[in-house]
Amino acid sequence: LLGPDGVPAPTVFAEMSALAAATGAINLGQGFPDEDGPAEVLEAAVEAIRAGVNQYPPGRGTPDLRAAIAEHQARWYGLDVDPDREVLVTAGATEALAATLLALVGPGDQVVTFEPFYDAYGALIGLTGAEHVTVPLRAPDFLPDEADLRAAFSDRTRVVLVNTPHNPTGRVLPPEVLATVVELAEQYDAVIVTDEVYEHLAFGGTHVPPVTLPGARDRTVSISSAGKTFNTTGWKIGWLTAPAALVEAITTVKQYLTFVNGAPFQPAIAAGLRLPDPVFAGIAAELGAKQEILADGLAVAGFGVLRPDAGYFVIADAAPLGHDDARALCLELPRSVGVVGIPVSAFVRPDHVDGYRSLIRFAFCKRRSVLEEAVVRLAGLR
Ligand code: PMP
Ligand code: GLN
Repeated sequence: LLGPDGVPAPTVFAEMSALAAATGAINLGQGFPDEDGPAEVLEAAVEAIRAGVNQYPPGRGTPDLRAAIAEHQARWYGLDVDPDREVLVTAGATEALAATLLALVGPGDQVVTFEPFYDAYGALIGLTGAEHVTVPLRAPDFLPDEADLRAAFSDRTRVVLVNTPHNPTGRVLPPEVLATVVELAEQYDAVIVTDEVYEHLAFGGTHVPPVTLPGARDRTVSISSAGKTFNTTGWKIGWLTAPAALVEAITTVKQYLTFVNGAPFQPAIAAGLRLPDPVFAGIAAELGAKQEILADGLAVAGFGVLRPDAGYFVIADAAPLGHDDARALCLELPRSVGVVGIPVSAFVRPDHVDGYRSLIRFAFCKRRSVLEEAVVRLAGLR
């Protein structure tokens, strides 16, 4: 949690959003949409507030939202989830991750993740006192080497944390990789914790929830969030589904983290989760179109482009433009061309930066006109 100089450091997202605000640059750094999501979802929250749904909701989440989450798991993935015993509503995926890790691991344990990894993983694993073991995902395909994955597990592995679709690479992890994860989790008796916040944002592949693989159901905590699907990142409504004993343990921690969260947003997200299939397909298709605008524009601007299957982000390699230090370039870009991006080095450990040094993550969850203007500006780098 400390920066290189030993003092508490803001996250790279806070740092880069502040830079965007200070310079007026287009913010393709932090991943948040610049448009509202489905009107039904927004209206349901307004109605709930007007109807007086403004006090502490039940600790596990409102019965209606838990039912909607169970229905969602059945509709999309054919899973049979008990809404009373196998669902917990959380303050975003972040709290689900925090409560799960705090409940399951401590000093002496190991947690395996892929690398690059979402920045909160490193910090949260650090808070538990467990050791963070990483498996590299390397350009251009960002898929793990099977031998690296096997080598990461040991008798001390308590949790393997799998993010798919993956931030920052945009990779949808294929079933073969997930099957190896499940096999290793069984062999070492580890819990599989998934982060599937981009589950409905796959435009170039099919998202497979790890819990659907043979052998996974009894040892998997599946985490997701409404923020990305419904453009409600500021509402912080997330959830997890898991076997009852795991939900019990994680709920014990959650009650002392936030106790409960987001009363009027819970009925709104329940309404969102019950929207018809074509709405979800439309959300992914729109994002896919935005991805093309940004990825095509980055290629024209001279970047090497590593196209994503899903999510909010595309990775661009600045090396072909003669820039080997993406962090230095990202600090300069807001003033030189008026665009903010995040260096991929922010998603790897400081001693693992080799292979990622010239890569930048740009977000495309923005209005088309904003993306078009951003690529015109970035073309000025040539
Ligand atoms: N996991 C990943 C991979 C993310 O990209 C994000 C955030 N954007 C989160 C978790 C956090 O989700 P939430 O805002 O629901 O806490
Ligand atoms: N998950 C978003 C991203 O990766 C936002 C992260 C944040 O602000 N903590 O950009």
